[in-house]
Amino acid sequence: MRKLTDISVVIFDMDGTLYQEDTFVERYIAYMMAETEEGARSAAALRARALLTGDSPIRLGQYYHREDDVVLVRSGGIFANAYTWEGEPLEAGRFAASYASMEPTDERLLYLGDPWGVVNALRHKHRIPLETADAAFRRVREEMLEAPYAFPLDESLLQAVRELDGVTKVLMTNTYEQSALDFLRRMGLDGAFDDVVPAAEKPAGIAEYMDALVRRGIAPSEILSIGDNPWNDLLPAKRLGALTCCISPYELAEEESWDIRVHTVGELAALLRELREAKRGERSTAAQLN
Ligand SMILES: [Mg+2]
Repeated sequence: MRKLTDISVVIFDMDGTLYQEDTFVERYIAYMMAETEEGARSAAALRARALLTGDSPIRLGQYYHREDDVVLVRSGGIFANAYTWEGEPLEAGRFAASYASMEPTDERLLYLGDPWGVVNALRHKHRIPLETADAAFRRVREEMLEAPYAFPLDESLLQAVRELDGVTKVLMTNTYEQSALDFLRRMGLDGAFDDVVPAAEKPAGIAEYMDALVRRGIAPSEILSIGDNPWNDLLPAKRLGALTCCISPYELAEEESWDIRVHTVGELAALLRELREAKRGERSTAAQLN
């Protein structure tokens, strides 16, 4: 384990990282599938919830095949088995013939990285037009700013983010700019970051951002990426040599290991306070030496 004092840049994800909330999932599905027959719509919501609560063999961290409507499971560095979306295991012969040699980067695969990604998989499964899904997405995000659907604020984490000093703080989110700014304002984090990158197009965006940092002389090992979506936030950072902190309340079907794994915003707050103290200790030591 590398030392916290090595860190000079922290890249934060926003949704699922600075706040935790997934009750939007049923509303997002209801709005997105408003034109879909009621039985299919409620079944979709039930399956999505079962996935998040661990009451289904389908988990976050698995891969949805958008053409074939099956979910692929990785084990030992390969795809090892598959399920139907309803959670029935795929017959071994069919699996071996069709999926055993697929790459996780295959463009037909959608990584189930977070609750938003689960709804995105449902969009493909039910062939919902992109504009319909996008309108539902924007409606949900606007609702999350106000009662009764306002997302929860964890003041201990938000304060720890504000008070973290001695490092460059970057926020990278794949959401669109207006929503990113609205959410930051609601959290009292407008102005808390040295750089805010909305519509960040992670995972590629995080790799590009890190490359730019490296060109400015920052070593990958000085960078800590914190996020709840392994595919978007953590894998690209880990591949380039950064430290990673996975924050997720869910049981992820994950093979990768992360330098730090926390489940709650409270645990993340504690980590940030520890990082701040480590950096302060380092600065006072340096001051004594000078
Ligand atoms: Mg996230």
